[in-house]
Amino acid sequence: MSTNLFLELGEDSPLSRIKTYFDALQNSADEYLFAIDVSTGQVMLSKNFLRDFNFPDNLVEDFTAMLTPFVWHDDREILEDAMNELHAATPGVEIFCEFRLLNRDGEYGWVSLSMTTGADEFGAPELVAGVIARMDLKLKADYVTGLLNRNSFQNALMRELNSSPDARGAVIFVGLDNFQLVNETYGHEFGDNALKQLAQDITNILPPDIRLYKLDNDMFAFFVADVYPEEIEIIFSSIQLCMREIRNVEDTIFCTASGGATFYPDDADDVITLMRYAEVALEFARQKGKDQIAFFDSDYYERWRYDLGMQNLMQNSIARGCEDFFLCYQPQIDAKTGALVGAEALLRWYDRDGSVVAPMQFIPLLERSRMIIPVGHWIIENAVTTAKKWQEFMPRFEISINISLYQLEEHMLYEFVKDCIERHQIDPTTLVFELTESNKVYDWDFVNKQFNAFHDLGIKIAMDDFGMGYANLAFMKNFRCNQVKIDRAFVEDILNSEYDRNIVKHVIAMCHANGMEVCIEGIEDEATYIFLRDVCDADIIQGFYFGYPETEDVFVKRFNK
Ligand code: C2E
Ligand code: MG
Ligand code: MG
Repeated sequence: MSTNLFLELGEDSPLSRIKTYFDALQNSADEYLFAIDVSTGQVMLSKNFLRDFNFPDNLVEDFTAMLTPFVWHDDREILEDAMNELHAATPGVEIFCEFRLLNRDGEYGWVSLSMTTGADEFGAPELVAGVIARMDLKLKADYVTGLLNRNSFQNALMRELNSSPDARGAVIFVGLDNFQLVNETYGHEFGDNALKQLAQDITNILPPDIRLYKLDNDMFAFFVADVYPEEIEIIFSSIQLCMREIRNVEDTIFCTASGGATFYPDDADDVITLMRYAEVALEFARQKGKDQIAFFDSDYYERWRYDLGMQNLMQNSIARGCEDFFLCYQPQIDAKTGALVGAEALLRWYDRDGSVVAPMQFIPLLERSRMIIPVGHWIIENAVTTAKKWQEFMPRFEISINISLYQLEEHMLYEFVKDCIERHQIDPTTLVFELTESNKVYDWDFVNKQFNAFHDLGIKIAMDDFGMGYANLAFMKNFRCNQVKIDRAFVEDILNSEYDRNIVKHVIAMCHANGMEVCIEGIEDEATYIFLRDVCDADIIQGFYFGYPETEDVFVKRFNK
């Protein structure tokens, strides 16, 4: 290979005609120019090439042969294809490709190459003019991982979609779960290294013709042509294995990945929609518990959009002082005497059309968006105000308030509650905080510390929905409380099922043995109530049999009877 030849330019060669331009542009930092004389194959390179790359000379005799040894081996075919395309193309057509090129510092960086053939006065190909640009300078590549970025992904996907009317395949987004926590715990340098390593690992496990891109923050993306969902699941499992490697770097690191996939042309056939759908699918995977891949689903998408709309409305409502929220109160009865002893405050929300929305539909939304924090303050403020009023009729009247784990993350909560108690001059021992089980607890020490602080103020602590979801025995072992609320699921069939009866009876006995009071939720008929009172020895009963959740105006009439 004779790439190191020192060539002389013929006086009337097309290259000598443009040499002046090359000299003028030689100091350009971002772009490297080249021109090829079609008849001789001679190539002229702008001088900045020599400044930044180890190329032999700025006049060489064969462009492809000169460049190839500097191109990342997996990308050499890309260059070769582009050159073949150029030779076949009619003058004026732009040929474009992207590949990794070795620079003087011994590092490979992404560059884009575009070139066009110019014709002489007879229309015959005369000169190829081209430019190579470093993509990191054009912000096309991610500086941490060296992968191409969102912009480049969009361009590549567009080319893929336009490549043939029958183009079909899948767009896959991979997002790191809890990566922010990794950054915060171990520092950004560690986070960057982990990302770099991960980018490399994922690149290695992807089939060679699939390119990995890095989107914003901690999200990767790629697309695969002609692929089935099962194949994507297999690829995703390998990515999950890569995540495990990251975890091993430091034993305590716990970072998983979630994936979202959407198919073209079945789900959509344009870049923007496909990218949005892949992101929605990723969000879906996260909502399902993370560490998994989800496929785009139009029903889910509609629900998601509905939720977004609701989230917007709620945000407005919060900005106006939680205007469309209101509390209902459900009576709690002393199981032994049948007397009213307290109420649980239950949140409701008015939708735009004035219909009342139930909490199961919007509490998860409030939690995810952290809007539960301002709304939580509002709930406490209002429930305490109401309790104080009702204690004029019944001094020991207890109000139970649901507290979601997300609310504990806010450090102001304790101060707020303390201040609220003082302002309203309410006896804190008449307040019950129910920990709802809506989220997994990672840090028991933290939860206990928070609830202990409330307990020290005199507030009673309850574990809500015992037996469901995360409110299980392990939860009970870790979480110290005064009251256990047994979920409705355990009592709805209690008259027919000896098995259920035994569970409830023994759970109550176990709670009593540990000094905890038991409230049974969801009593809908007298027979169940009597059984729980006489056989199971329950302390407090709550259920439709004694009253539905009612607005303050309706509930207050109970005191006048
Ligand atoms: P939860 O705290 O377990 O509340 C009891 C739920 O059971 C209430 O549903 C209540 O209406 C329902 N219920 C009570 N007795 C019966 C019965 O006899 N039969 C039947 N079928 N259901 C009964 P609701 O009001 O829809 O609340 C659902 C959940 O939403 C609550 O479950 C709680 O986890 C959450 N939630 C409600 N209000 C708040 C709040 O202010 N803050 C937070 N963080 N969560 C809340
Ligand atoms: Mg509750
Ligand atoms: Mg409950």
